[in-house]
Amino acid sequence: MKRPMPPKDMEAFNFDWSMHNEVPYDFHPDEDLKDWVWDTFIEEEGSLCNPDHNHLAYYSRDLIGFMWVSRPFEKGGRIVFGQCEQTAIMAGGWKRKRQELQMVQWFGYIPKYIITVCAGFAESASDAEFCALIEHELYHIGYELNHEGEMYISPTTGLPKLYLRGHDVEEFHGVVQRYGASPDVQKMVELANDGPTISRANIAHACGTCLLKLA
Ligand SMILES: [Zn+2]
Repeated sequence: MKRPMPPKDMEAFNFDWSMHNEVPYDFHPDEDLKDWVWDTFIEEEGSLCNPDHNHLAYYSRDLIGFMWVSRPFEKGGRIVFGQCEQTAIMAGGWKRKRQELQMVQWFGYIPKYIITVCAGFAESASDAEFCALIEHELYHIGYELNHEGEMYISPTTGLPKLYLRGHDVEEFHGVVQRYGASPDVQKMVELANDGPTISRANIAHACGTCLLKLA
């Protein structure tokens, strides 16, 4: 199964960068991208099915809206090519209705999460790079645990409780396991392999919590 590509008419592919402050970003929802992600990573028969995403399979595909964006953005000196966000309409009255209408016009419904992927990245990325980014974004949707440390299933809905979660350190463990280390993670591995310059014992002596445990 071939992975979906952003539509050719997106301005990402013939963009005049000298105009980038004047031209607004272009967004394009993609039902095919959604189906491909579900068929590939979430469904049990998927060619790259990852059981780490099992909690998503409790929900319909409308849980997540997928869209392409024409350009990346910069945050903290990094270029961002993908994002997973929880849909939160922080408004009331007509403002709320307007934002809801925008969602319905894009997706046909109001998704609980939105995953946005940069079209230019998708166009130039290898299959592995693209899959790693998609799975990275999927990993951002975590599930709550019960007291036994297992997935909590709500007795009223029969569904796990989802939330937007941060990275395990720089990347999700599952992404590194499946696709290998990115340069950032590789750097961390090298630093770890070099061994600490300050021994664990020294840190323990500097930390009040550890001192209590040592005592
Ligand atoms: Zn992330």
